[in-house]
Amino acid sequence: MSCTLLHVANEDDRVFEMADYQGPQARWCSGCGDHSVLTAVQRLMTDEQLKPETTVFVSGIGCSSRFPHYMKTYGFHGLHGRALPVATGIKLTRPELDVFVVTGDGDCVSIGAGHWVHALRYNMDMTVMLLDNNIYGLTKKQTSPTTPQGYKSNTQPRGSYLPAMNPLEVALGITNASFVAQTAEFVPAHLFATLKAAYRHKGLAFVRILQRCPHFTPDLFQDGVKKPDTVQILAHPEGIHGEGIDGIYKNQVRHDPADIHAARELAEDPSILRLGLFFRDESRPRYEETRALPKRTAREKIDLLNEDFDRYAV
Ligand code: SF4
Repeated sequence: MSCTLLHVANEDDRVFEMADYQGPQARWCSGCGDHSVLTAVQRLMTDEQLKPETTVFVSGIGCSSRFPHYMKTYGFHGLHGRALPVATGIKLTRPELDVFVVTGDGDCVSIGAGHWVHALRYNMDMTVMLLDNNIYGLTKKQTSPTTPQGYKSNTQPRGSYLPAMNPLEVALGITNASFVAQTAEFVPAHLFATLKAAYRHKGLAFVRILQRCPHFTPDLFQDGVKKPDTVQILAHPEGIHGEGIDGIYKNQVRHDPADIHAARELAEDPSILRLGLFFRDESRPRYEETRALPKRTAREKIDLLNEDFDRYAV
């Protein structure tokens, strides 16, 4: 790992630059929204001066799940839909680590949905990024749960049969969920501000990131990209403030992120694309705190293990 050392006397005086978090060249398609998220995350890490050796990225399977390969941190590229149980285990065992989860709409909202629901309820301190491109890209344009109804794919060539699942509605319906936000990779200032708020949140921060897939769904999200008035920003002093957003995105609605009922109403209304912090409540219990194990030395762990062996000895 190469990092800039301004003062070499003490390891904690290290100052990290963006290059210190950048892994190999990402192999997503040119113009893929995943590139934008990768850059925003690396910016966030630089801004927050996160230590690469105490940061972990966990992913499942899908285009976006290649994310850990492109970070110069610890990472775990897991099984389809299983990023959240792995991240939960890491956080429970090593609560001092900064844990980020990168998952896609197929990975999280379909095969991993059961894990997603319970991770929201467990509310462990981590940042979960759902990179939602409304399609399975890695498996070549298959309908995903968030594909718009009627949208044609290779698995449903006459168009997706059912209304798309709304991940915000689901997240806001889960008991003990503590942070639910939506942003878009094509609004970089909002994306960065949202990731920052999510990282600083104490509890599980669930961020749905609308993500373009120019290879398979080049027509999706184009209104949001080209016509700022078709995007509505949730504005509030306790909400998310992206630099320069107000000048471009003038369509704004005041929403207090403490109001779960208003958040649900806004989330279930499909009439306009909304970006912002829907809900936040840091007072909700976190599983890793309620179940925290006391810190033990290696000697103490061995003694406890021996006690258990003695208990079951015949
Ligand atoms: Fe990105 Fe789509 Fe290419 Fe996958 S297929 S890397 S989501 S543009």
